[in-house]
Amino acid sequence: MAMRERPEGEFFDVLCETSVCLPDAVQLLTPCTYGNGWLKVVDVGRFAITVFEKYSGKGVRVHLDASKLDDYPEIKAWFFRLKTKKEQDQEKLLREILDAGERILAASGVQVDARHIGKKKGGPTAFCPKCGEAYPVKSGNACLACQGEILYK
Ligand SMILES: [Zn+2]
Repeated sequence: MAMRERPEGEFFDVLCETSVCLPDAVQLLTPCTYGNGWLKVVDVGRFAITVFEKYSGKGVRVHLDASKLDDYPEIKAWFFRLKTKKEQDQEKLLREILDAGERILAASGVQVDARHIGKKKGGPTAFCPKCGEAYPVKSGNACLACQGEILYK
């Protein structure tokens, strides 16, 4: 739906508002991946994506409209986590998703904020004076791990 409704333009990026599930769909169905930088994930926890013209930021935002889920009890139970994974009827859920199609979605035109337009430049790389591994200099005088970002015990 978002791809179909996207504005004119040769190149587009995707902004995804959740880090769960949805980024995978974008990566499977469009050329936009997290790795190539055309998919940006800003995890505000909303089940929504925006496909936008990559230079102007003009785009279409599509979200799951949860107010439309009353006719689809299995989707509703999955979305609101009303059932445990074991209690879910996977077949029914998939059937409902296919049956519902775009009926449970809503689309609107948006202008993406300038902070989320354009590619982040890589910049120079150097050896971290503490751990000795290569890191982007823009992080500071040491890599972020050595500046205190705890990754391991
Ligand atoms: Zn380091």
